Amino acid sequence: MEPDLATLPRLDRDLTEPEPIPEAAIARACALMRSGRLFRYGEMGADQNDVALLEQEFAAFLGRRYCVAVNSGGAALCLALKVLDLQPGEPVLVNGFTLAPVPGAILHAGGRPVLVEIGPDYVIDCADLRAKARASGARILLLSHMRGHIADMDAVMAACDELGLLLVEDCAHALCAAWGGRTIGSFGAAAAFSAQTYKHLNAGEGGFLVLDDADRAARAILHSGSYMLHAQHLSAPAAEVVARWEETTPNFSMRMTALAAALLRPQLADLPRRAARWNAIHDRIGRGLARSQHVRLPERPERERYSATSVQFSLAGFDEAEIQAFLGRCAGRGLPIKWFGASRQRGFTSAPRHWRYAGAQSPLPRTHAVLSGLCDIRTPLSLTDEECDLVAAIVCEAAETIAAARAAAGETGRARRGSRPGQR
Ligand SMILES: *Cc1c(COP(=O)(O)O)cnc(C)c1O
Repeated sequence: MEPDLATLPRLDRDLTEPEPIPEAAIARACALMRSGRLFRYGEMGADQNDVALLEQEFAAFLGRRYCVAVNSGGAALCLALKVLDLQPGEPVLVNGFTLAPVPGAILHAGGRPVLVEIGPDYVIDCADLRAKARASGARILLLSHMRGHIADMDAVMAACDELGLLLVEDCAHALCAAWGGRTIGSFGAAAAFSAQTYKHLNAGEGGFLVLDDADRAARAILHSGSYMLHAQHLSAPAAEVVARWEETTPNFSMRMTALAAALLRPQLADLPRRAARWNAIHDRIGRGLARSQHVRLPERPERERYSATSVQFSLAGFDEAEIQAFLGRCAGRGLPIKWFGASRQRGFTSAPRHWRYAGAQSPLPRTHAVLSGLCDIRTPLSLTDEECDLVAAIVCEAAETIAAARAAAGETGRARRGSRPGQR
């Protein structure tokens, strides 16, 4: 007998609740609004330098030479591809488990996404990477560290070296992550970050491009829309380098506003504390989920230091109807779960089969198989330990209930079949 949902404890909170903006950030934002000077550049010299200072601080945090702040993570990815000289129609390799703005950024930059398979632990499959790189002749790999799952970067870098691939990292969910002690966002020729509300840093909208090459940095600054005011950047190559590109680099108007930078600077200072708490939330829920034999958590290698703002797990051996029943049961207890296997794209969640704009792709059977059981729970920073335990308990109870219902149905089916003579 299934326990009645109404008798079980409910999760009474909104998992989409972001952290409040720090008071120091609010004070600075108010001062900027009183001045009205919200554009990052000033014609008569810098009106304020919030964006320029943030760029310096972000580059230092990542250990990279240059940072260009822009208006979204997708814009940062598009700029990264532009400064790597992406040509119209050029193929760009990208892992199939990512968010829609990633294939979107490739198309925005004029390229053509070539989707690469992932493995059971949600990260890129290097054997398929090699095959697709050879078949497409691609020059660039856009590696999305989707939901903070970090691929074996030793294997990825070895494949890039062997195939002559330039690496762009999508670090929208990987701020503070590392592989073998090296910061994620420091492996690629360029790396992009997002400051959209549901990432580690929240300005509503915002993005960062980090890189080390002076010419590419100059081009990114000019493309981002610096007019002739690029001297107001503090994280920038020498003026002669920028001058080389000034008349050949179009302005794409992708700037970050001063207001966004004002909101972000105090958050960046507080990031190590936040990232540690977020991982503690992730690990506590993970320990609870590991108790169910129907829930599979990805294996995370020793060399990976992840930085989670959400929890992913796979339902082992459930079919579509069973997963729907599972999701319904969790929702009935106040736990909304996102599912990458849904037939229609929904909310922020979509999968390669929904991206018809990406153009014809070879089939991705392994990616589809992984995504068809992949569930995703948002974990706000304010989640208490008790709430973490309740989240895990709700998932485990729902999985057990669905599995028990199936076992019972199987018994009845076997009994019926057994009663018919001549049938096995
Ligand atoms: C959010 C996100 C992006 C895009 O960031 P925006 O700032 O929303 O453009 C790119 N990749 C991944 C994996 C993301 O989660």
